[in-house]
Amino acid sequence: MAFGWIDEQARARGRAGLVRTLRPRPADSPLLDLASNDYLGLARHPEVTEGAAEAARRWGGGATGSRLVTGTTELHDELERELAAFCGFEAALVFSSGYAANLAAITALAPHGSLIVSDAGNHASLIDGCRLARGTTQVVGHADPEAVRKALETGGGPAVVVSDTVFSVDGDAAPLSELAQVCREFGAGLVVDDAHGLGVLGDGGRGAPYAAGLAGAPHAEYPEYPEDIVVTVTLSKSLGSQGGAVLGPARVIDHLVNAARTFIFDTGLAPAATGAALAALRLLRREPERAARAREVAAELHARLTASGLEAVRPDAAVVSVRAPSPERAVRWAADCRTAGLAVGCFRPPSVPDGISRLRLTARADLTGGQLDRAVRVIGETRP
Ligand code: PMP
Repeated sequence: MAFGWIDEQARARGRAGLVRTLRPRPADSPLLDLASNDYLGLARHPEVTEGAAEAARRWGGGATGSRLVTGTTELHDELERELAAFCGFEAALVFSSGYAANLAAITALAPHGSLIVSDAGNHASLIDGCRLARGTTQVVGHADPEAVRKALETGGGPAVVVSDTVFSVDGDAAPLSELAQVCREFGAGLVVDDAHGLGVLGDGGRGAPYAAGLAGAPHAEYPEYPEDIVVTVTLSKSLGSQGGAVLGPARVIDHLVNAARTFIFDTGLAPAATGAALAALRLLRREPERAARAREVAAELHARLTASGLEAVRPDAAVVSVRAPSPERAVRWAADCRTAGLAVGCFRPPSVPDGISRLRLTARADLTGGQLDRAVRVIGETRP
């Protein structure tokens, strides 16, 4: 049998308690949601769903072709201009997913003969970008600018440092200012994935690079847009839609249009997703307090879990990670939460390379005090 070997893998997964299954989410789920990445509660906001519906009515159910052929609408143009201006970069390019944006940024900016320095805690899409790129990857310790410096000392040609801004499972932040400083010293480029920073960190949710003073409209002190930093984002978390984008200098964006295979050979982002993201971005500009509220809810959730004796990582954005004693007990814990009406994320190896299973909770800006009370109570009562 051609694929006989997969049965042995399935049995091994079963023995280790690591089988994953899909379960459709009902449209009107009664569960309290601390599992999704809808950090600002915008995915079902009427302005966002209407943005999607209006775009689909006007432009159709799909983009109809790649961005360079028929897949670019004026909505894509508007989203790119407004996203770049909001986050403080010269230009932006929208992709069909954050995953595709990461593959594009790394492969197009790390040619043959280049060095890629990648944080050990990076998201799978950054890791895959490194694997696909022609450059040579050196993985360095998590959030360790000194390790990055040592790696850069070994390189001779072009170099690029790759990191998440906020790490997706533990919710801790990368030392962005220090990384930018080391990159400057070595003339290296910095590519950061702000999937979990956009909409949560920085003034009004402008993202982690903006919060670190690495992005922003040119002004007297910094007459140019950032030249050596490229940021990737997803439209599927704080913006409640789907898709991704790369932000950076216009010459880098032009390069991606001409060289990034996940841009050139992929169908453009669907109009509905583009319209939803644009509506969410405009809403966030009008209601900047949503970002600070997500951070407050995360801090409050962490404080209360810790006070009840649970081991939780101090959140730098909207993700709160709670340690579980084993993969089996993590699964049991998440299932018991579900039975008690609470949806939480459950992360086990191999999604977590350090082998430590966790519950992953997301603090939404629109959680009420009563909902927070309930969530903390359920997590405490169901602890293994
Ligand atoms: N980067 C990070 C850090 C992520 O957490 C995710 C989503 N899980 C992605 C990229 C991929 O984004 P998308 O879901 O838009 O493909």
